Amino acid sequence: AVRLGGDEFALLIAGPDACALEQRTEDLLTELSQPIRLDEVSWSITPSIGLAVHPDDGRTIGELVQAADSAMYDAKSSPQRWRRPGGDRAASDGTGPEELAEALRRDQLVVHYQPQVDGWTGAVTGFEALVRWQHPERGLLLPDLFLPRAERSAVIADLTRWVLGRALADLPTLQVSAPGATVAVNVSARSMMGTRLLGDLGRLLEESRVHAHDLVLEITEPAPRATAEVTGLLEGLRALGCGVSVHGFGSAQTSLTALWQLPAVREIKIDPHLVQAVADDPDAERLCRAMISAARGLDVRVVAEGVETTETVHRLRGLGCGAFQGYLLGEPVPLDEVAGWAGAWHREGSRLLGR
Ligand code: C2E
Repeated sequence: AVRLGGDEFALLIAGPDACALEQRTEDLLTELSQPIRLDEVSWSITPSIGLAVHPDDGRTIGELVQAADSAMYDAKSSPQRWRRPGGDRAASDGTGPEELAEALRRDQLVVHYQPQVDGWTGAVTGFEALVRWQHPERGLLLPDLFLPRAERSAVIADLTRWVLGRALADLPTLQVSAPGATVAVNVSARSMMGTRLLGDLGRLLEESRVHAHDLVLEITEPAPRATAEVTGLLEGLRALGCGVSVHGFGSAQTSLTALWQLPAVREIKIDPHLVQAVADDPDAERLCRAMISAARGLDVRVVAEGVETTETVHRLRGLGCGAFQGYLLGEPVPLDEVAGWAGAWHREGSRLLGR
């Protein structure tokens, strides 16, 4: 690292691919944005980063520094605070954070609901709210296309608030089809940082008159780190009475240690890859057995996500997992199709669960 002058620094990083570089940039921004305490006063800086990649953005050091410098100036006006020369992919495909912010203002986002069922009784226990973007030119867009970039920008906080508001408003209708059902909303650990999530949530719950225990916040970060800030937020959610769930258990990035470090977590979701492997792979079955038994020992509910076959339900039920979500049981659907799905489930559910 070198200081170019004033408040400008340059960092030379060897080797990472574009994805790893974006992640390193994000981590650096998060680190640099942490408040610094000096003599009882808390100071924050707002860093901006310009990226230049050899040889795409320049072949000599001079060209690279110049490209990074102009990208850095672009980054100052970008919500995600970093840029590559010529803007990032978002600028060209119309699904970047700026366009998403506009879509929120124009009411182009919609929420679909995917059911979760009890594998023993067949009861519908909850719905997961999954956001989609009804794009005027490109049709219905799935979150994987626009969320990863949104996660790195300020727009994610607005999106989370909007989905929460929508899900809480829709819950009474969902409960007509499934009395007592909860609604789960995805919140990335990163998007909770430094935002007014707890305050907003308290207000939204009050306005919607929904009981806090009917709302589950699903933390989408694969491995929420038990920093004081994360722990404080999760404890705050627990104090409000909301459920806290962590998904992706059994993927490389998660560990059961998270349950010990984050006692507010009351539910884990087994990663779909592991769930789908359980029927034919004895190692996957052993890992599921260990996870389910550890979670039950800690009084943590286990949900299997991405269930596509009755055989999978059968195997996991045998290991002690009682809650299921996946295409076998129901795909995510708009609110006005939930009642139709519930009617079909009433007729077909037992057979699909292999009961
Ligand atoms: P997730 O929370 O793991 O959601 C489940 C995803 O798996 C959904 O994809 C769902 O359509 C898909 N899925 C459900 N059952 C099956 C199955 O049986 N087989 C297969 N192959 N897939 C299944 P979707 O809706 O595209 O969402 C992808 C991810 O985007 C979500 O993963 C979640 O991490 C994120 N996401 C969705 N909505 C929001 C949101 O409002 N806020 C945030 N922060 N993230 C969201």
